[in-house]
Amino acid sequence: MSTTETAIASAEAHSAHNYHPLPVVVASADGAWMTDVEGRRYLDMLAGYSALNFGHGNRRLIEAAKAQLDRVTLTSRAFHHDRFADFCTQLAELCGMEMVLPMNTGAEAVETAVKTARKWGYQVKDIPDGMAKIIVAANNFHGRTTTIISFSTDQEARADFGPYTPGFEIVPYGDLTALRAAMTENTVAVLMEPIQGEAGVLVPPPGYLPGVRELTRERNVLFIADEIQSGLGRTGKTFACEHEGVVPDMYVLGKALGGGVVPVSAVVSSAEVLGVYRPGEHGSTFGGNPLACAVALEVIAMLRTGEFQQRATELGDHLHQELGLLVGGGAVEAVRGRGLWAGVDIVPSRGTGREISEKLMDRRVLVKDTHGSTIRIAPPLVISKEDLDWGLEQLREVLRG
Ligand SMILES: *Cc1c(COP(=O)(O)O)cnc(C)c1O
Repeated sequence: MSTTETAIASAEAHSAHNYHPLPVVVASADGAWMTDVEGRRYLDMLAGYSALNFGHGNRRLIEAAKAQLDRVTLTSRAFHHDRFADFCTQLAELCGMEMVLPMNTGAEAVETAVKTARKWGYQVKDIPDGMAKIIVAANNFHGRTTTIISFSTDQEARADFGPYTPGFEIVPYGDLTALRAAMTENTVAVLMEPIQGEAGVLVPPPGYLPGVRELTRERNVLFIADEIQSGLGRTGKTFACEHEGVVPDMYVLGKALGGGVVPVSAVVSSAEVLGVYRPGEHGSTFGGNPLACAVALEVIAMLRTGEFQQRATELGDHLHQELGLLVGGGAVEAVRGRGLWAGVDIVPSRGTGREISEKLMDRRVLVKDTHGSTIRIAPPLVISKEDLDWGLEQLREVLRG
């Protein structure tokens, strides 16, 4: 057996099969490129589901991590540490908000958002105990905890994991009338992705997000934007909400916030909303640890320059222009997305998303399929135009064949 086959067989024997990875075993990576255990190089067009917006081995991020590793890595929140205040202040400022509650994974941040909205509902909005309702969208993806999968519409994510957490109402994504109809006096929040990532990079119809903003404001309901995948430069703006001129009440952030180095997530909101917490009511051993803060501070500094947003805009325009040319050519049904982020629906007779992904892998391009015949393209924002063009050429070749 080859080194690759041995590694895969061993992984299959000793890890739960909750993933079905492409048969490539990565050993190292730099920028937009990964090298496997047999020395083959692949263009990374997934970027860790946008956790690697700044590329593999980004020098600034690695240096920040290394410097912090030599100082202090973990204190727990039982004590203050000297990176914490800067992290919270600067992240709040980047978001145009007032307070930060740091966690680690995206799902934890979403859980935190849910808990915060409920607590705000009881303490500020004066909803009767146990009655708080949160409205979410169909085809959402917000993570994998038992509460979060309770309001998923994806049977794969839900089946056999009940009993489910109550308190959620599901409405069709993009439908303001349905949202308005679902609101009651016990609604505390609307939780949505401004662009639905896992669903296939679905951009809502123009005017939808401003409509959600208006409706939530009118009804004294929190608008929670899960920007874990759409945020931090991916779409050409710091937040995808900005494309529609919308400012939510709360951002949920993760993925790229940790620069692909460490898991860092956060809920960012106003003092009114995050001010509901008292000591002991919520927490996380690793949340806001010094290493996480040091890396995230560097991420924030990089985002402040605007250069990554600019790149995502320019390269994204190019990407969508090129992908647009494939639509109607017999192999591509539709292309969606914004910035350096695209969902490409392959004509089903040309193969499943998985089959296309495997063929792209044979041509040394790594992407991920989602939901049947859709592939998702989201390279690191540091990718060069030449590499992007080369990746697109491989896609054209695969679709031709
Ligand atoms: C990835 C993702 C999550 C979950 O993040 P994890 O770090 O995997 O828990 C939540 N919401 C969105 C929109 C995501 O893309």
